[in-house]
Amino acid sequence: MFLAGKTAIVTGSTSGIGLAYARAFAAEGATVVINGFGETEAIEAARTEIEALSGARAFYHPADMADPVQVADLVRFAAAEAGGCDIAVSNAGVQHVAPIEQFPVDRFDAIIAVNLASAWHLMRAAVPHMKAKGWGRIITTASAHSQVASPNKSAYVAAKHGVAGLTKAVALETATHGITVNCVSPGYVWTPLVENQIPDTMKARGLTREQVMNDVLLAAQPTKAFVTPEQVAALAVFLCRDEAASITGANLSMDGGWTAA
Ligand code: NAD
Repeated sequence: MFLAGKTAIVTGSTSGIGLAYARAFAAEGATVVINGFGETEAIEAARTEIEALSGARAFYHPADMADPVQVADLVRFAAAEAGGCDIAVSNAGVQHVAPIEQFPVDRFDAIIAVNLASAWHLMRAAVPHMKAKGWGRIITTASAHSQVASPNKSAYVAAKHGVAGLTKAVALETATHGITVNCVSPGYVWTPLVENQIPDTMKARGLTREQVMNDVLLAAQPTKAFVTPEQVAALAVFLCRDEAASITGANLSMDGGWTAA
């Protein structure tokens, strides 16, 4: 268990890819701080299940990633009460699908705040702790949409391209401090975030549920298969290994060949 003694913060880890990251880090012995929304009982069940994976502690912090003060408090909590801030994963994300002229301004603002600005605030708060130890791993869940665009996702595509740029800039700033900063960029992963955008895409494009799944989502993915949360998490675990110490500033695609086209 090569992560024993390390603490990992994973934002947006009550569901989907974030929950898979938290499980994978815990299975390697890390103390994990999970975060995100959900029913109290479900979150507590996830926390205890994660804790049972290795016996290392698992904590929950309820920070709303749209609020910079709460993001900073999440990092303070990890450093002061959960053993440290060795691994910081910016993963919380929201989505809205609409043509730009009908895109609600409050949804644009929320997507930029949660998907992009929170990553900046997380890194700003986490880097001093990592520099003090001379070791750190920062991972952002970007997306294939950090490299290519799709119609009706203007806010999400802007945020994810921003995350890729942010990751490169902070990788350069921290390169001599034993810290790596990388994006993991999945194609379509079967999670509630994807399932929830199907109705809006049906409405925006006048399609059936099956047409959205096969002709819109998997149309872009040459493998014609959804990526799994566990595959994404396994790449993040690898990025924490000593063997990955020279991978920094990278945008690592896991998209079934989508961005090769
Ligand atoms: P999900 O909806 O299953 O999980 C999102 C998580 O973020 C949940 O835990 C939710 O509670 C949390 N969250 C949302 N708003 C928050 C806020 N304001 N503060 C704190 N937590 C908040 O989604 P997912 O598919 O697992 O997505 C995780 C990340 O992966 C996102 O950044 C998403 O953009 C990215 N991504 C997903 C896919 C995909 O196909 N599912 C593809 C590429 C990238």
